[in-house]
Order: sequence, then C-alpha cells, then structure tokens
Amino acid sequence: MPQKVTTIGFDADDTLWHNEVFFRVTQERFASLLRDYAEPGDLETRLLAAEQRNIGHYGFGIKGFVLSMIETAIEITDARVPAATIRELIDAGQEMLRHPIDLLPHARAAVESTARTHRVILITKGDLLDQERKLAQSGLGDLFDAVEIVSAKTATVYAGIFARHGNGADRALMVGNSMKSDVLPPIEAGGWGVFVPQGPAWALEHAEPPARDDHAARFHQLDDLAALPALIDAIG
Ligand SMILES: [Mg+2]
Repeated sequence: MPQKVTTIGFDADDTLWHNEVFFRVTQERFASLLRDYAEPGDLETRLLAAEQRNIGHYGFGIKGFVLSMIETAIEITDARVPAATIRELIDAGQEMLRHPIDLLPHARAAVESTARTHRVILITKGDLLDQERKLAQSGLGDLFDAVEIVSAKTATVYAGIFARHGNGADRALMVGNSMKSDVLPPIEAGGWGVFVPQGPAWALEHAEPPARDDHAARFHQLDDLAALPALIDAIG
C-alpha cells in the first residue's frame, strides 16, 4: 500500500528547541524594571494587548516583542520612562537574539528518524534572521528537505507549502507545540496535526483541540517527540 503520509512538517520554536522560556525571563526583567509604575499582573495584560495590536505590523518574534515592551513602558509611565530603562529593554532583546540554542529532548532523533522515511520540512514563523541563526546553530539544518519561514501559519499557507514540497496537504502531517498555529490549520487543510505541548503556551497561541469528528480523527497529541516515529508508522 502506498504511504498515506509522505511529508512531515516540523515547527521550530518550542517543538525542536526552547524559546518561550526566554520570553518569560525577559518579561520578568521587564516587570522588575517597571515595578514602581505597575503591578506585574497589570503590566502583563498591557503588554499582551500591545503585542496583539502590533502583531499585524511586526509579525512574530523578538524585535516586535521589544517594541511592544517599549510601547507599554511609555504608556504605563505616562511617557516618563527613563531612557536608561529603554536601553535595558533593548539590551534584553539583543541578549535573546544571541541566546544559544538548546534542543528539546528527542528533537534530533525524531527528525533524523523521520527524515529517513519521509520528506521533512521545517515550518516556522518569527524574525527571518533570528530563525535562520537558530536553525544554523541547532545543527539540524541538513536534515530538512526544505525550510519555510512564514509570517502566518494558516490553512492556505500550509496547503501551499505541502503542495510545493510534497504531495499536497492531504498527505502531510504537521508537528508542533501550538494548537492554533501548528495543529488546527494543517488539519483544516486536509492533513494531520500532532500537538506536542511544551510548557505553558503564549496566550496569543491558545486554542481548543478540533471539535469536528473528521478533524478530530486526524488529530493526535504526544507528551514528547520520542513517540513521533511510531505514530507516523501507525498512521501509514
Ligand atoms: Mg512553536
């Protein structure tokens, strides 16, 4: 019988390597810098609102995050935030951009094993240069048949990628830590979605699992990537 699934898409951030944790650490630094002006909870709400407002302009990634922190700092201090504080926020962002890559458990083995039997594609959003740097540092770059750094992960975007690099979305499976970006859209496009949660997700990436029966049938959840090759084998 021919393979049902021929192409596997991997998300990058918090699927193959740690990412969200660096945002959390920087956000704690942000809260401590502005502790005289706002309670941490209030600050977090304001920052999230700024990120939500700006995402359509800045896209996903560290640069947009830093600009949203600066905007929130200006807002919350009635434009009295010291330049030294802005400087610290910029430094914090630059540190994030230099942070070494820390692969998640089983990431390399899962990609290696999958690449032997399937076409494998890295599909990620975020700052172009930063994602290229992380992929280069990860040492996983040579394992992928293609790399797609996109501004949004919609069903249409997945359909295009899997048509270009594979046999279409209905013969593709996508693996990732975001229900909203990595799992629901590829299922909607006709393929499979495998959810591998990694710590608490960023609030803007939250979504419920698929409800429709035909979608739920192509949805899977794993604790980590160790079980991925067996799942792909079971699907066929
Ligand atoms: Mg991710």
